[in-house]
Amino acid sequence: MTTTPPTRETETDDELDSALVTARRQLERAAAHIDVDPGVIERLKHPTKVQQVSVPLERDDGSVEVYTGYRAQHDDVRGPYKGGLRYHPEVTAEECTGLSMWMTWKCAVMDLPFGGGKGGVAIDPKSLSSDETERLTRRFAEELRDVVGPTKDVPAPDMGTDAQTMAWFMDAYSMQQGETVPGIVTGKPPVIGGSYGREEAPGRSTAIVTREAVDYNGRDLSDTTVAVQGFGSVGANAARLLEDWGATIVAVSDVNGAIYDPDGLSTHDVPTHEEEPEAVLEQDAPETITNEDVLELDVDVLIPAAVGNVITADNADAIAADIVVEGANGPTTFAADSILAERDVQVIPDILANAGGVTVSYFEWLQDINRRQWSLERVNAELEEHMLEAWNDVRAEVEAKDLTWRDAAYVVALSRIAEAKATRGLWP
Ligand code: NAD
Repeated sequence: MTTTPPTRETETDDELDSALVTARRQLERAAAHIDVDPGVIERLKHPTKVQQVSVPLERDDGSVEVYTGYRAQHDDVRGPYKGGLRYHPEVTAEECTGLSMWMTWKCAVMDLPFGGGKGGVAIDPKSLSSDETERLTRRFAEELRDVVGPTKDVPAPDMGTDAQTMAWFMDAYSMQQGETVPGIVTGKPPVIGGSYGREEAPGRSTAIVTREAVDYNGRDLSDTTVAVQGFGSVGANAARLLEDWGATIVAVSDVNGAIYDPDGLSTHDVPTHEEEPEAVLEQDAPETITNEDVLELDVDVLIPAAVGNVITADNADAIAADIVVEGANGPTTFAADSILAERDVQVIPDILANAGGVTVSYFEWLQDINRRQWSLERVNAELEEHMLEAWNDVRAEVEAKDLTWRDAAYVVALSRIAEAKATRGLWP
């Protein structure tokens, strides 16, 4: 059964989509395509638990401030909760809940034995010294200690947190447990149990999925033009790999704007956000254009890999690419998605495209449990295998039910979760 997309008259972005609104809408859309017990859908609309904690922090000047932290745990029917911890002033319980639901779908579409979690502290990380960030993280780890654990809930880095933050979290947890517990978090530095290839993984999976989408359309990467919005971890790794594989990357951008060369840029020469923040416009290129222009370039593939809600009802009609691969989380609003579907623009959804991050987090967790480190070659080979399996599972739904790529990805995810719930039953 296929749902009718909303009519054009209703396709406006009344307000840009929040993570929770998007996650619930996607659940309902996916449910319409499969035969699933309504009780299961009802259970999936709600998180299992949302923990709120107070995190007191002694600032470097000796004063004490108290911040609010959260950990939302959506569903663990397939395994421990998994998802990032972010430090950002706008972190709320609702946002964490929505993002934790999103992680449930992402883990399930990749067939990983995890459910969705997300958390964070409402704080501006740029206002903190390194010592303050360490103290905040250690105290946050202690406040969450009862609800997290390597077989319970495994956090990872997210906005405003990084590998060092995870190292402090792991150390704080381990000190209180009285033993070293590397599997408590993923995204750690490799020297303490992190995985090689974790940082590049979301960009690598975005590139793999782009390659498959181009191939699915009967084209060759060497005849493919690509525009990438955002030259950070996801955008730069995807752009560089696709260039290495033969694609022509005509535009890349950072928050200040884009460089454009219709003959192709040399993306390895453009510093990433981490190598030199916001330096894209300083590079030699025939033309500079705006971030809005990047989205509307006449290219074969557009990869929005910066922030959410950039393709909206206002510009969806102007998207000229045939394929959009969502490197960022939630770059396309619900209204824009319908417009693109009506125009036959293929949108490969974030929960599939950038899922390399959580997939290599799973590899890291396996390595931690086994106390054995994999080589980068092995990580990349296993990632390739997992991405192809997920791609093929989603493609099968696209073909069998004539669905958009997004609906197909959610159908794959929801079918797995619903089957697990039905098989385990409802306790007590
Ligand atoms: P990043 O901070 O490394 O890079 C972000 C890039 O986007 C930078 O080049 C920045 O200048 C640019 N940018 C910021 N605001 C912009 C704007 N308004 N318009 C255009 N460009 C802008 O971030 P990242 O880790 O690459 O993450 C990018 C997106 O991918 C986010 O949506 C993130 O949630 C998602 N994502 C990241 C990971 C990960 O592990 N890094 C995993 C999955 C999804």
